[in-house]
Amino acid sequence: MEILVTGGAGFIGSNFIHYILDKYSNYNVINLDLLTYCGNLGNLMEAEENPNYKFIKGDILDTKLVDSIVAENNVDYIINFAAESHVDRSIHNPKIFLESNIIGTQNLLEVAKKYHERGQIKKYIQISTDEVYGTLGKTGYFTEKTPLSPNSPYSASKAGADMIVRAYHETFNLPINITRCSNNYGPYQFPEKLIPLMINNALTNKKLPVYGDGRNIRDWLHVYDHCTAIDLVLHNGKIGDIYNIGGNNEKENIEIVRIILKYLNRSNDLIEFVEDRLGHDKRYAIDSTKIKSELGWKPKYTFDNGIKKTIDWYLNNEKWLEYVNSNKYINYYNEKYR
Ligand code: NAD
Repeated sequence: MEILVTGGAGFIGSNFIHYILDKYSNYNVINLDLLTYCGNLGNLMEAEENPNYKFIKGDILDTKLVDSIVAENNVDYIINFAAESHVDRSIHNPKIFLESNIIGTQNLLEVAKKYHERGQIKKYIQISTDEVYGTLGKTGYFTEKTPLSPNSPYSASKAGADMIVRAYHETFNLPINITRCSNNYGPYQFPEKLIPLMINNALTNKKLPVYGDGRNIRDWLHVYDHCTAIDLVLHNGKIGDIYNIGGNNEKENIEIVRIILKYLNRSNDLIEFVEDRLGHDKRYAIDSTKIKSELGWKPKYTFDNGIKKTIDWYLNNEKWLEYVNSNKYINYYNEKYR
């Protein structure tokens, strides 16, 4: 298999690349990533030693580049992780979210279509999010049939991308899958997202900012379990289908923050409630029955053991955190590739 992974220098993409290279010694992975502020090649140092891995710096909006990568490497699968992914940033600057997340996706689809028609591309997989479904009240779960009702510019851009992926399947018969997962946590996550931000701030004795009353609920999925789910969709996903992936670990944000402080032996006094995020969705919860019953997916981690392992990872990888905090990770590409 020749897999083009886009956005592979980010959190989930880099975990997925490690997972695939470890599991399949006969698969080749090309990582196309623009290295935006959260793209970090320091996430992939081990992969760089592997002859089955190749990195290319570039934009998914660059049609010529994507076309030449697919042609020259005989790519047969494309998995699109590349996106602007932070809700807060989408509130301040929505436009780049539409460009990278929607137009970027359409660009990849256009190349996928061309090479599918030549019998080369076998499948395109879009990594989406449960946020496209909007928000839930106290009860109920998102299923694959829940209508899309995104509330933030980020989730609206991801929903737009899902729609265009669906359209390429319906109109051009492009073989696709869409996966929609809940909030991921684990190693290599940029410390602007809840869990690594709180760990990072607690370790450096900074205040831990919590939005509103901290009672918003997310369903947490360990990134390793997300990778095993994508692996199943890659190999066995029914063409044209959508798969929800959730950890079945609903937690209030404040509960997560207290768990982290307790594990790190820090005081709850570090918590600081701050003004709520605009349009902050109240609750997300995923029904993963379909991927479990049809593809046999079973998450390995409970939240309890996943969060401890994750905190330990950040404790054991202080150098990585230091690089990210000091922006030194941005120089890594220049040192390594120029
Ligand atoms: P991330 O922000 O850590 O990584 C995104 C990567 O995409 C970065 O390496 C960045 O450099 C790259 N990128 C951005 N724009 C690009 C462009 N135009 N061309 C090429 N590369 C570009 O994100 P993540 O948390 O790893 O998320 C990966 C995917 O999973 C995203 O599509 C996101 O919407 C989705 N997702 C994430 C979560 C989560 O909890 N992190 C949950 C649900 C869905």
